[in-house]
Amino acid sequence: MSRRDDLTEASWLVAGGRPEGPGDPLNHPITAASTFLPGGDHWYARPDGTPSVSALEEVIGGLEGGTAVAFSSGMAAAAAVLGLVPVGGSLALPQDCYHGVASLAEQGVAAGRWTLVRIEDDSRWPDALQCDLVWIETPSNPLLSEVDLTALGSAPRRGMLAVDGTFATPLRMRPLDLGADVAVHSATKLIGGHSDLVLGIAVAASDPVSTALREARALGGGSPGALETFLALRGVRTLRVRLDAMEANARELATRLRGHPAVGTVRYPGFGAVMSFDLVGGDTAADRACGRVSLIRHTTSLGGVETTMERRSGYPASEHLPPGLIRMSVGLEDVDDLWSDLAAAIA
Ligand SMILES: *Cc1c(COP(=O)(O)O)cnc(C)c1O
Repeated sequence: MSRRDDLTEASWLVAGGRPEGPGDPLNHPITAASTFLPGGDHWYARPDGTPSVSALEEVIGGLEGGTAVAFSSGMAAAAAVLGLVPVGGSLALPQDCYHGVASLAEQGVAAGRWTLVRIEDDSRWPDALQCDLVWIETPSNPLLSEVDLTALGSAPRRGMLAVDGTFATPLRMRPLDLGADVAVHSATKLIGGHSDLVLGIAVAASDPVSTALREARALGGGSPGALETFLALRGVRTLRVRLDAMEANARELATRLRGHPAVGTVRYPGFGAVMSFDLVGGDTAADRACGRVSLIRHTTSLGGVETTMERRSGYPASEHLPPGLIRMSVGLEDVDDLWSDLAAAIA
């Protein structure tokens, strides 16, 4: 299948990006090659990718309705997108977003490369919409704040709109349909889905943007590795069923957490696998809970088949977070087992 055609998402996830020639393997093998013989689409793997990179891009691009460019990490994809802001230009960023992106933006300010508008509240939107690039993350990491993309995508703006949709995945949100210029994913998280790879993807709505991102990858060198690409493509095949099941677990845990006397605010948008919550006992209680869980793993990152949680304060650019905030990524375990573990840890 080389084009999404009229397939539904469910079928495209399984059927997209497969080899099609007579005698080809059903799955793209791990392409351990830096260079290729003439006559094909790939010549050198850094600028051109490999057949598996192209297959992964085809599947994600087909889901998002744009041209995908895969990178060695979500941050490499973000850096390429931020790099589209001209020197002396301006960038807008929400108050809550992935700390790496916030730090990268702040570093650009410190180096005199661009000016930055932080969208702390709605009064900042007029300035933000005048920037060369508006970067949005929705739902945000780790506060799960949401931006109304339907309104934002159609609001008059001067520059580009990029949306980090890592938490939503292309199955819950299609930013390009709503007027964004680029959708960005850390495929390390739900797309890969097994906590065994680091990879990123940016999907562009137009050819000039996808060309610029490819050039940034070629010259910046942030090309994805062969094993990671293979694993990400393997992960994508089950994204829909994983997300559906994780979401069902997450909804149930959010409901139970909301009814628990030790729990303060629960932040869960009603979809996806990630939530965050505060404990009434503050940072001490949060540290104790993280130290007590056993089925739930006390570690960072999110979107894998296993449930993980951690206290989020202490990361750079995270000063706005409540000190006791716990972010939890809900996996595929039995929800009652998860609740027993969690309820004992927060008691
Ligand atoms: C993890 C994450 C990133 C960074 O991705 P890496 O693959 O770790 O480089 C960017 N945005 C969001 C929302 C993330 O959760």
